[in-house]
Amino acid sequence: MISDAWLKDACFIDGTWVPADDGQTITVTNPASGAALGTVPRCGGAETARAIAAASRAFTTWRAMLAKERADLMFALHDALLAEKRALGELLTREQGKSRAEAEGEIAGGAAFFRWFGEEAKRVYGDTIPSPWPGKRILVTKEPVGVVGAITPWNFPHSMIARKLAAALGAGCTMVIKPASQTPLSALAVAAICEKVGFPAGVVNVVTGSAAPIAAEMCENPAVRKITFTGSTEVGKDLGARALANMKRVSMELGGNAPFIVFDDADLDAAVKAAVLSKFRNSGQTCVCTNRFLVQAGVYDAFAEKFAAAVRALKVGDGLDAGVEQGPLIDPAAIAKVEEHITDARSHGARVLAGGVRHPLGGTYFEPTVLADVTPGMKIAREETFGPVAPLFRFETEAEAVAMANDTEFGLAGYFFTRDLGRAWRMMEALEYGMIGVNEGLASTEVAPFGGVKDSGMGREGSKYGLEDYMNVKYALFGGLGA
Ligand code: NAP
Repeated sequence: MISDAWLKDACFIDGTWVPADDGQTITVTNPASGAALGTVPRCGGAETARAIAAASRAFTTWRAMLAKERADLMFALHDALLAEKRALGELLTREQGKSRAEAEGEIAGGAAFFRWFGEEAKRVYGDTIPSPWPGKRILVTKEPVGVVGAITPWNFPHSMIARKLAAALGAGCTMVIKPASQTPLSALAVAAICEKVGFPAGVVNVVTGSAAPIAAEMCENPAVRKITFTGSTEVGKDLGARALANMKRVSMELGGNAPFIVFDDADLDAAVKAAVLSKFRNSGQTCVCTNRFLVQAGVYDAFAEKFAAAVRALKVGDGLDAGVEQGPLIDPAAIAKVEEHITDARSHGARVLAGGVRHPLGGTYFEPTVLADVTPGMKIAREETFGPVAPLFRFETEAEAVAMANDTEFGLAGYFFTRDLGRAWRMMEALEYGMIGVNEGLASTEVAPFGGVKDSGMGREGSKYGLEDYMNVKYALFGGLGA
C-alpha cells in the first residue's frame, strides 16, 4: 500500500496544506485498475494568486541566502527522496501505470537533479569585461529571474517537476507548480518532502486543479517572471504566446517525433536492445521515445526479425507486479490514438510483426507492437503516437535517411546506429534535433542539456545550460575610478 505519509489530499501553499476555496476535488485513479486512489483540490485562479504572493514573499529571503545554504537544503531533499524511493515509486506507479522499476528509477533520476543543481548553485559565476574606456570597469553578474510558474505533464509526474524545480531553486528562484490532473499525487509528495526537510514557507508551492484558470493567473500575474512548461506542442504554443504577451521568460519542453536510424553497418544486437528501451520505456509515452524506426534495406529484414522477437517477449501487466516491463496506457484516449495509427498504417499496407491489438488484460493495456513496411504517407510518420507502437520504415542511402528523419515539424531527440565514424559525425551534424544518441537509444541525464528545436520547444533543462534559463544577466559599468 502507499505510504500514508506521502499521500496528500490538499495543496501546498505558503507552507500549509489547504483545500480548494470552494471545496471541490479531482479524483485520481489507478490506470492499472481504474480504482480511485484519492482526491486532490480543484483549485483555480484565486488559490494560484495566493501561491504566487507567497512565492513572491519567499523570493526575497530565498535569493538572499548563501548559495551553500540553499545547496544544503537541496542535498537534504535529494537524500530524503532517495530514502523514500520505494514508497514514492509505488505512489508513482499507482497513479501513472509505469513499472515499479521505472518508477523508482524516475524518483532516483529526479533526486539527482536536486544534487546537481545544488552543486551548480555554488558556481554561478559572473564576468569582467575589458573596458573600452579609461577609468571604467565592466562587471557582469547573474541574478535569479524571480517567481516561476511551472506546468507539468502526467508521463513523468516526478522528474518533469524535479528538473524544473531543482534548477529554479539552485538559481535562487521560488516556484508555483501546477501538475497534471491525472498524476498530481507525486507532485504533492515532493512538496511534503520539501516541508519535511525544512524549505522555508512559500519557496515551493503546488496548486492542483483546473488548467485554464491556473495558467491564466500564472500568465497574467505580474509577480511571475517566468513560465516553464512541459507538455503538448498545442498547449505550449498557446501558453507561450500568453506568457510572452506579458514579457515573461519562457521555457517549453514539447512534443517529439524521434527517428531511430539503423544503418547497414550497425551492431544489430546493440541496436535492437536500445530500440526496445527507446520505444517501450513508459509504454511508449515518453517525449523522447522513438516514434519512427528508419532501417537501411540491407539489414531491414534481420533487424525486423530480431526486434519483433524482443518485443514479443516484453511482459505486460500491473506495474506493481514483479517482472512487469510495460504497464497500462494512461487512459482510453491514449488507446484510441494507438489504434487509430495502427488501423491507418495497416489500411495503407503495413504488416503487423508483433502485437497490434489490445492486451487480454483489458482496460488500457495494449500489446507491444511492431509494424513493418511503414511509409512516410501514413499518419504514424507525422504524428506522435505516444504509445507502444514501433513502425519500421525502409531507406536506401544516408541522404535519404537524413531527409526522412528531418521531415517533421518536431526536433526533440534523434538516434542512430552505425560503426562508421565519418558517418556518425555527418549524421550528428545533419539531424535537426536538440538531442542525439549515437549508438544509444536514451540520452537523458541531469548533467547534459535536455531540450528541443523547431516545434519541440525552447530552453534547456539539466546541465549548466539549465541553470542559465532561470537567471537574468546584469551588466554594471563602474565609472569614476580614476585613470
Ligand atoms: P498536455 O495536455 O499539454 O498537458 C500538460 C499540462 O498542461 C498538464 O498539467 C495540463 O493540465 C496542462 N494544460 C492542459 N491544457 C492547458 C491549457 N489550456 N493551458 C495551460 N495548461 C494546460 O500534455 P500531456 O498530454 O499531459 O503530455 C503529453 C505531451 O507532453 C506529449 O506531446 C509529450 O511529447 C510532451 N512531453 C514533452 C516533454 C519534453 O521534455 N519535451 C516531456 C514529457 C512530455 P491538466 O492535466 O489539468 O489538463
